[in-house]
Amino acid sequence: MYLTVVVPCYNEEGNLHPLHERLMEELKEYASDMEIVFVNDGSRDGTKRELSEVASLSPVPVRVIDFSRNFGKEAALLAGLSHSRGEKVAIIDADLQQNPKYVAQMLAFLRENPDYDCVAAYQDVRREGKVLSFFKKTFYRLINRLTSIEFYRSASDFRVLDRKMVDAILSLPERCRFSKGIFSWVGFRTHYMPYHVEARHAGKTKWSFWRLASYAVNGIVAFSDKPLILSSVLGLLLFFIAIVMMLFVVIKTLLFGDPVAGFPTLASLILSLSGIQLLCLGIVGQYLAKMYEEVKGRPVYLVKEILDNREDPKQK
Ligand code: UDP
Ligand code: MG
Repeated sequence: MYLTVVVPCYNEEGNLHPLHERLMEELKEYASDMEIVFVNDGSRDGTKRELSEVASLSPVPVRVIDFSRNFGKEAALLAGLSHSRGEKVAIIDADLQQNPKYVAQMLAFLRENPDYDCVAAYQDVRREGKVLSFFKKTFYRLINRLTSIEFYRSASDFRVLDRKMVDAILSLPERCRFSKGIFSWVGFRTHYMPYHVEARHAGKTKWSFWRLASYAVNGIVAFSDKPLILSSVLGLLLFFIAIVMMLFVVIKTLLFGDPVAGFPTLASLILSLSGIQLLCLGIVGQYLAKMYEEVKGRPVYLVKEILDNREDPKQK
């Protein structure tokens, strides 16, 4: 098998037939040696029905990994990669925002440049509001500061990977998966290619602002222990400030006596210090929560059913 196309799908009923058509059209030259792995991430609409239709119509091997519930895109990607058999694996969203023609371009690049192991597409012009763009930029600046690996801003999960890289990714046992980080962490040589993002074909985005924010926090916690160091440094700094203040108060009392004053100072000090304490506790808590997740050792996803159009006797 030369090529596997992995498609995570969550409530994408309106997009699957058009996506399949476009994939077949753009990847014609690989049609004799490719497969598609759809992961149905616990969709609540007709995605499952549409996927089995696509599987029965498709001229290429199609597998549908049907999750028992929604486990999130990261889990869907992991399932897709672990069920892939291709020498090259392409990851593409189901909503046609990412034109399949770029997959052909990425594959061509890899063929011409065998010393590269991965091509990652990034959006040439971002189609998003200023506020979101600002937060994303800040996040990338922060995470690049906090971690030793490099996060390429705008690089998405839309990419083509070599088998070697897929195997490396699958060898990481962690459960809290942050693909953007994992792709960088495993290393290998990656080429970044611009692509023009299109409008969603049907349905709507699943990423609200808060879901993105918690994804960002997860990413930082998964790839950096610097926030922990930061909280210790903050504690130490405050300790020194407290000593200086104490000395100041003692000297002032010795020189000028001790009128009872400074209640507002005391109140604001207590408030700000307890705020900082809670913040640090929160930071420690984030790591503890992640450890709890890992220690429980639950699987990242559960599969309810696997459909395979080549195993169905009717299809043979
Ligand atoms: N997706 C998924 N599980 C989820 C959320 C999203 O498999 O819990 C899939 C979704 O079906 C799509 C891709 O991830 O194929 C990207 O999602 P979306 O288009 O909502 O994200 P956006 O393009 O807005 O960043
Ligand atoms: Mg999308």
